[in-house]
Amino acid sequence: MSIPLPAGEVLFDHAACALLVTAPDGVILRASNTACTWLGYDHEELVGKIRMRDLLPVGARLFYHTHCQPILQVQGSVAEIQVDLRNRRQERFPVLINIMRRQEGEQPIDHWAIFKASDRQAYERELLHARKAAEAALEARRDAEEALKRLNAQLSAADRRKDEFLATLSHELRNPLAPMRSALDVLTLKFARSADGRLLQAFDRQLRHLTRLVDDLMEVSRITQGRMQLRRAPVELSTLVRAAAQDLAATMEAAGHTLRLDIAHGAVMVDGDATRLSQVVLNLLTNAAKYTPNGGLIELHLASEDGMAEIRVCDDGIGIPLEALGNIFDMFSQLEPALDRAKGGLGIGLALVRGIVELHGGSIRADSAGTGKGSTFSVRLPLSAQASSPAAAAAVDASPVRVRVLVVDDNEDAAQILAMALECAGCDIRVAHSAGAALALLPAFAPEVALLDIGLPDMNGYELARRVRLLPEGERMMLIAATGWGQQKDRERAFDAGFDHHLTKPIDFELLRTLLQRVGSSKDFDR
Ligand code: ADP
Repeated sequence: MSIPLPAGEVLFDHAACALLVTAPDGVILRASNTACTWLGYDHEELVGKIRMRDLLPVGARLFYHTHCQPILQVQGSVAEIQVDLRNRRQERFPVLINIMRRQEGEQPIDHWAIFKASDRQAYERELLHARKAAEAALEARRDAEEALKRLNAQLSAADRRKDEFLATLSHELRNPLAPMRSALDVLTLKFARSADGRLLQAFDRQLRHLTRLVDDLMEVSRITQGRMQLRRAPVELSTLVRAAAQDLAATMEAAGHTLRLDIAHGAVMVDGDATRLSQVVLNLLTNAAKYTPNGGLIELHLASEDGMAEIRVCDDGIGIPLEALGNIFDMFSQLEPALDRAKGGLGIGLALVRGIVELHGGSIRADSAGTGKGSTFSVRLPLSAQASSPAAAAAVDASPVRVRVLVVDDNEDAAQILAMALECAGCDIRVAHSAGAALALLPAFAPEVALLDIGLPDMNGYELARRVRLLPEGERMMLIAATGWGQQKDRERAFDAGFDHHLTKPIDFELLRTLLQRVGSSKDFDR
């Protein structure tokens, strides 16, 4: 058997005291040179052949069995036993013994340090040395712990400063963005039809992109600093999820993706902030589109079970390596294979999504069978109390939508029918049949939502939207484009002009109701 030495081999063999290593039954497994000299045996004669009891006189042997062995078993060490040892010639000599039991793999092993009692001074020197070494080790450990604490404090402070910096940065970046937006809007109004029009459009697209990045940054720093507030109200998820899918239809179409919906029948009610929850679904769908090669299949499921609503977004895209699944929701986490597909992301979308979901008392997880094998993101949210009663859910759904809506359409019949339907839903409605009439109505009526047809006689709906946005009352208004054109370029044009939503005719009235309800419920909250 090979026995590891307590110190280096040389130290062991040449120690001034006698050192022995024994099995718990006392069989000698290793002996230092001094031990051999004092006991009068060669290594070969001692190791494996002689037991400690052979070296102890009767009294000492008894003491070893009844006293030392049990203590070794319980405490692992015995110190300063004063006994006699017998050498080969059976001569006795008094010694001081320290025994330390150590676990070597499966087996306990005893280390014996033996000092001649006559050499008490050497023994005490060794003992002092050992105590100092132990104290030094303790002190080193205390220093290391202190250093670790300092490092922790420094890291927390740095982390806090980083969060504060991000909050300030995003706030400060927003300030110059606002006048840039206004200046660009003015320039666009003046020069949109000139040769500079394309230049302005590119400028506009980039400015929107920058604004979105800054908004994300601001929101995520709000979450990390615990400053995000939810505007909670009963939210019906199937409509919300459908609306998000519709919002991203153009993106999906542009990439040639198929977006398949599998939405639970009936109302799925949660108590939440509809705008934030839409943000969650939009973010997951955008990522699915972004990280799936063109022509992919993306599925959006909504179901409810065991008091929880589950929204699942699955794609057959580039997938996520197993080792990355654990930290994909951390801020600024972007995976290598995805980096070149990031399309300008900051790696904060998922951090934001997790923050929002957790603020709602829910949870989110990512699954993937690995690189190239697609990904699934599952969000679970607690159902609200109303969810158990379909009737109650229906009642919330049918509750009046108290919102001021301006309907602008040159087709008088279409405008009138829509206005009647919206009035039945509880809205306060004004109708205009031209852009000029709409602009004239704005100051007095101050609508919260304007539903604009694009093909108007005096000015197209895009231009009208731009003008409305420049007015003080138009800044926060929800602008919905209602057009017969559902191509991607039409949607893009609508969003570029300042529309919040783009609905194709014939208008899905339930979807329109949901959009209006969002405005209504955030207003209720403000009150
Ligand atoms: P961003 O998209 O701006 O990089 P996110 O926080 O939204 O930031 O996503 C973080 C990272 O997670 C992405 O950079 C990408 O590596 C990975 N990721 C997110 N969604 C998917 C997905 N559906 N498939 C594969 N990887 C994804």
